[in-house]
Amino acid sequence: MTSIVSKLPQVGTTIFTTMSALAAQVGAINLSQGFPDYDCSPELIELVNQAMKEGHNQYAPMAGVKALRDEIANKVQKLHGAAYDPDTEITITAGGTQAIFTAISAVIHPNDEVIVFEPAFDCYAPAIKVMGGIVKSLELEPTNNYRIDWGMVKKLITNRTKLIILNSPHNPTATILHQEDIEQLSAIVHNQDILILSDEVYEHLIYDGEVHHSMARYPELKERSFIVASFGKLFHATGWKVGYVLAPEYLMNEFRKVHQFLVFSVNSAMQHAMAQYLKDENTYRSLPDFFQQKRDYFRQGLAQTQFELLPSYGSYFQSVKYGHLNNESDVDFAMRLTREAGVACIPTSVFYTRGTDHKVLRFCFAKKQETLDDAVNRLLDFKL
Ligand code: PMP
Repeated sequence: MTSIVSKLPQVGTTIFTTMSALAAQVGAINLSQGFPDYDCSPELIELVNQAMKEGHNQYAPMAGVKALRDEIANKVQKLHGAAYDPDTEITITAGGTQAIFTAISAVIHPNDEVIVFEPAFDCYAPAIKVMGGIVKSLELEPTNNYRIDWGMVKKLITNRTKLIILNSPHNPTATILHQEDIEQLSAIVHNQDILILSDEVYEHLIYDGEVHHSMARYPELKERSFIVASFGKLFHATGWKVGYVLAPEYLMNEFRKVHQFLVFSVNSAMQHAMAQYLKDENTYRSLPDFFQQKRDYFRQGLAQTQFELLPSYGSYFQSVKYGHLNNESDVDFAMRLTREAGVACIPTSVFYTRGTDHKVLRFCFAKKQETLDDAVNRLLDFKL
């Protein structure tokens, strides 16, 4: 019977939950899954309490609380000079993952092709497959710093290409899109019926003064894009699962046709609190400095180990190469590091459909300074 009902190969455990469980079991410092080990703002928690006390405890509107959509529209206008109508072009979602699944299911029909750059965050391919779409992946490599070869992208395009999925800043590689990428992408989609799903959940985690090239900035890309954002990343509250999606009205109509039956309404007290909290633009403008300090601190520590550090331009991840140290698979090595060194990380082969192993490990540095110190000391004590 399983064969007639199963649409996807596996469900339940992912490497993220496996590594976190192993870390807990052996008492390792968990730099695997991407979440902070410090709390979100007490002021924001207070605002949630207040919203509940004020009686915001029933269903929110399907598109989300209007005050929050208004604040998001202001933010996007200020940051990217882009206008989104809060009534028809912004929808609050139950986190980024739901926004991604909903956008894919709203536009992908059987046999539509979707271009995905690998290594890729794990929730893209399953959503495409459930809808009967075809994943056309293009593997990027650490040897050229995971740059996208747009010539190869052109070769992947067929008359069935419906969607290109982008993610900048990128999980797991910590790379970002540059102006040249935007130009190449624009040339490829020009006059084509190709949509874009732009996963921008790390939009504010970008360093060294670099600009976040949101699809919202480029009218020709904006008009064909779903842009996904997550308050989990923005407010250090991954467990709250609130995010949003921006899209032009014709795409948002399709999005809401799915959203209204999949989710209907997102946590209303949190939305009221976030609308209030977002009025202070320092909440997001302070994030690059806040995380850059952590990145620099962690990199300084890791530089003392024998790992070879890859650049980290954005996101809260730092990857390292270890192929010069041993020949173990990245999964085996990550497990051994967790058990023997007491530091958990993610092997990046899991982000490739074919399990391509470049001997690269990903660490999350959204942690307290003492956690990062402890992790680096353990790695230094361990005979790599
Ligand atoms: N996209 C990427 C690239 C992510 O790393 C994550 C979270 N790890 C998400 C989407 C999902 O965001 P959320 O937790 O809001 O569902």
